[in-house]
Amino acid sequence: MTDTYAVIGNPVAHSKSPEIHAAFARATSQDVTYNRIFCEIGAFSETVRAFQAAGGKGLNITLPFKHEAFEFATRHSARARQAGAVNVLAFKATGVEGDNTDGAGLTRDITVNLGHALRGQRILLLGAGGASFGVVGPLLEEAPLALVIVNRTVSKAEVLVQRFAAARGRCEFSASAYGALAGRQFDVVINATSAGLSGEMPALPAELFAPGALAYDMVYGKTTPFMQYAQARGAAVVDGLGMLVEQAAESFVIWRGVRPATAPVMAALRGTR
Ligand code: NAP
Repeated sequence: MTDTYAVIGNPVAHSKSPEIHAAFARATSQDVTYNRIFCEIGAFSETVRAFQAAGGKGLNITLPFKHEAFEFATRHSARARQAGAVNVLAFKATGVEGDNTDGAGLTRDITVNLGHALRGQRILLLGAGGASFGVVGPLLEEAPLALVIVNRTVSKAEVLVQRFAAARGRCEFSASAYGALAGRQFDVVINATSAGLSGEMPALPAELFAPGALAYDMVYGKTTPFMQYAQARGAAVVDGLGMLVEQAAESFVIWRGVRPATAPVMAALRGTR
């Protein structure tokens, strides 16, 4: 019998997860279908329960429901507990398992696919939403020199810094307002805001990017103002497609116990194969 999975979010129409999981299923001969579920704000639990009652086996969760998904899960992986946010649910006879594969997807894309080591780097993370909660732990594990989290609502960045303080090691780990970035330079700037989805970007100082800097936008499938801004200032610019494919592969492992190859799927999605 075909097993059913889906990505749930608001908005969700732009998600490429169905194409990615269909490609993984073909490549690994797994009998699965994977759909998109648009969920009204405030209706997360009832929508997920209906999916589960109809026999659904697992969900990916996209914005803005990752914290609600954490609450929905009855058991959490260590990385989900650390993040307090869940982007994968697996419905098992024993309960609802929640995991977070965003951070592993991001660091794998940067360090393995792009070959850009994070150790000893000065990293700036823009945004303190569900995606940032998922990536801060894995970023700190890479032992950067500095990790600064900047957010429009500064108190949310401060919450993140407090939450992960014990994992900072020797890293300079702090929260910041956008206005306080003047005069600072970073080797890696990761845009984890949703501003690009509506064609906006936070105000950034022009000298932010160190020579040879990597500018990584988690948004994929479009050129955002952040990408244009970073490119015009000499940074190497990458979108979040690689992160998406890598976090999807981690989800596929959780659900199916098989690791699919990611390079052919990324090449197909980029139209280079
Ligand atoms: P979220 O929980 O809704 O958080 C949104 C974040 O963006 C908040 O920090 C918010 O700041 C900030 N923001 C929104 N509009 C802004 C603006 N105009 N100026 C400055 N900051 C703004 O969303 P999320 O789940 O963290 O996702 C964030 C982005 O990452 C989305 O675009 C999502 O598609 C992408 N993402 C991609 C992947 C991938 O695999 N490639 C994985 C996860 C997420 P405030 O706190 O001040 O409101």
